[in-house]
Amino acid sequence: VVLTLRLDDQQLTALAPLRAAATLDELVARGIDHDRARPPDPARAGRRRPPGRSPSPPDPDARLDQHVEAGTALGVALGAGDVLRVEQVVDGQCADVNAFALAAAGQRFDAARTRAAHGLRVTTGAVLVSTAPELELAEIVGDSAGPHDLCFPACSAAELGALSGCADHSNCVDLQREAQRHWGLAAAAQHDPLNLWLLSDVLPDGRLCYWPAACRVGDFVELRALRDVLVVVNPCASDLFGSAQWELGPVRVVVRGGPPPAQPTGPAPRWRWRDLPVREIHVELDPDRAAHVRAVRESGWLGLTDAAVARALLLRWWEHEQGIPPEVSR
Ligand SMILES: [Zn+2]
Repeated sequence: VVLTLRLDDQQLTALAPLRAAATLDELVARGIDHDRARPPDPARAGRRRPPGRSPSPPDPDARLDQHVEAGTALGVALGAGDVLRVEQVVDGQCADVNAFALAAAGQRFDAARTRAAHGLRVTTGAVLVSTAPELELAEIVGDSAGPHDLCFPACSAAELGALSGCADHSNCVDLQREAQRHWGLAAAAQHDPLNLWLLSDVLPDGRLCYWPAACRVGDFVELRALRDVLVVVNPCASDLFGSAQWELGPVRVVVRGGPPPAQPTGPAPRWRWRDLPVREIHVELDPDRAAHVRAVRESGWLGLTDAAVARALLLRWWEHEQGIPPEVSR
């Protein structure tokens, strides 16, 4: 059985030390064997990934309706009462959300204070609050596939680069900072995000764990601004841990409401990971391993095609080789 794996150049750099000693076919085989030997995750074993839904139709009353492409971020100024919708346009793409009070300099979204009020995971009804003195910034008013994580920081170049060997690995910290620069905010204003569609938990010993993103096309989250705010959204730029199902994709942002209460004051953003090259590489599997890939694909959690599943199993084994334990990377 021949599959066509799509791997971007960062993933190929991460795999390069392993590829020095083995072919990609052999590495994929080891990834599949690793998955076969792995104890099933009680959170997902025996269950199927939820189905997708129809994308919402274009909204003629929307003030803004656009895709935020992979490797970019979008800042949107919202007036009180405006509603911002973030929607899946590919299956399994987490997104980071930062927020800043427009009329109160320095008052930005505070993941820790919001977590203290609503718990580690949030969904409809949660109010995003700012750094002290606390302001109510926005409320989650719609959510088709929550909850959403308030534990993890934004992925960074140093964190991902240390594992992949890429000196300038695509990452959410730098995407957020570039969008902030466009809005006249300093890099230091970047803060811990609301991680849309990232499912996370805390292990009994206090370590954090996470699952690959399970959201589907058409899934959405809606935030209603409770005062004038700048919201910055980016599709997660980590191609290594399943927060983008191992292939960076866009998300859609739709805004309904009045005229924007502010305009960007900084330079136009530059997106250096917007067109990350993706290579298509054929790998050959024996029938036994191909059958395992098909069985995993039927559950949906690690990809919706055999090639996507084979890539996921390869990169999950790579994670294991980097010393990331299976109870942390679920
Ligand atoms: Zn990220």
